[in-house]
Amino acid sequence: MTDLQRPDCVALDAADPLAPLREQFVLPDGVIYLDGNSLGALPRATASRVQTVVADEWGQGLIRSWNTAGWIDLPQQVGNKIARLVGAAPDELVVTDSTSINLYKVLSAALTIARADAPQRRVIVSERENFPTDLYIAQSLAAQHGCQLELVEQGRAVDRLRDDVAVLLLTQVNYRSGALYDMAAVTAAAHAAGALTIWDLAHSAGALPIDLNGAQADFAIGCGYKYLNGGPGAPAFVWVHARHVNRVPQPLAGWHGHAAPFVFTPDYQPAAGIARYLCGTPTLLSLAALDCGVDSVLAAEPLGGMQALRRKSVALSDLFIRLVDARLHAHPLAVATPRDARQRGSQVALRFDGDGYAVVQALIDRGVIGDFRAGDKTRGDADLLRFGFTPLYLRHVDVFDAVQTLREVLDSGVWRDARSARKGAVT
Ligand SMILES: *Cc1c(COP(=O)(O)O)cnc(C)c1O
Repeated sequence: MTDLQRPDCVALDAADPLAPLREQFVLPDGVIYLDGNSLGALPRATASRVQTVVADEWGQGLIRSWNTAGWIDLPQQVGNKIARLVGAAPDELVVTDSTSINLYKVLSAALTIARADAPQRRVIVSERENFPTDLYIAQSLAAQHGCQLELVEQGRAVDRLRDDVAVLLLTQVNYRSGALYDMAAVTAAAHAAGALTIWDLAHSAGALPIDLNGAQADFAIGCGYKYLNGGPGAPAFVWVHARHVNRVPQPLAGWHGHAAPFVFTPDYQPAAGIARYLCGTPTLLSLAALDCGVDSVLAAEPLGGMQALRRKSVALSDLFIRLVDARLHAHPLAVATPRDARQRGSQVALRFDGDGYAVVQALIDRGVIGDFRAGDKTRGDADLLRFGFTPLYLRHVDVFDAVQTLREVLDSGVWRDARSARKGAVT
């Protein structure tokens, strides 16, 4: 295999039909941003939209804006836009609360439904390497429902499906390794074993094509601030299959999920459909910003949509792996993400035999922003250097330059400087 050179990457960018989408974003000079899987970049449209919502709609419209500016409809409107990205029908998905809180709602509903049908099912199955908040919420609900949470090794969840399993809770793309589940196949296996599925789409919504209805999934939740570019703390989303949505109320029975919130009756009556998964008043400023973020993804629709974004994402991550193999083989690095693109999301993790945190800090000091995820040492998990490849705003040449910078950091050993090893509160 011949080594790719920088001019080859420049040529790939010149031929890239998605290249104009980058213009939608504010990206600082001198920065290569490989962390859109943790916090998406800022769309240019967001600042003026939020300014309009603040100065005009709030400042001038005041409380009238709930009606006149359509604030009250925004959770459903933005939900309908996200629905197009994840294979949901209109009015099946709504934007509200955080991913953690939405997981609480759907896991509680799923346990109630599963156990009404089969009370002997007491087990929630998830993966030890799932994102911790998902495991913490599941632990809390397992205790409340008299159930157990059982954690299996990554990729082994289907093996654990037996007649005691109520719910299978999986994140479609693992936040550390980037490994991707086949949603349709795993859902079919769960259903064959009599279990319901909850899919966390935090690292897949906006990153790859998803077909929730096509996969016959049961419940899904996802994050607004990663590939949907909604901004820090953006609200999250929740989807429930039509066959389940009206069967049970969700446990956080707030007034916005009521059938008639503005009648102000003392008794709770859940709304029909996904609106019952709303709880309190929407965080309007954040929701307006998320609307701009989702629009930045929908802007790819005339250019081939999620399928085209996925092709570019795979091209970028394949290029990264190829350059790491060709240029960094002298260093103690290993690709920890599946090399088969069909089995990975839009990120690549590298194992490094040394102080990976310091390497990432040295990269950030040089304008290449990735991140570091520590492994569970008690289980022998490796520390990972994590690099996300957001096809909306990254170029092939960015991938080339990032690998080049990583090579300089490793060749020079500059990462050993004490300055790089100081840890911030957020990694
Ligand atoms: C990012 C992420 C979350 C985030 O949850 P918050 O409630 O927004 O903090 C949850 N689950 C997974 C799998 C994630 O990757």
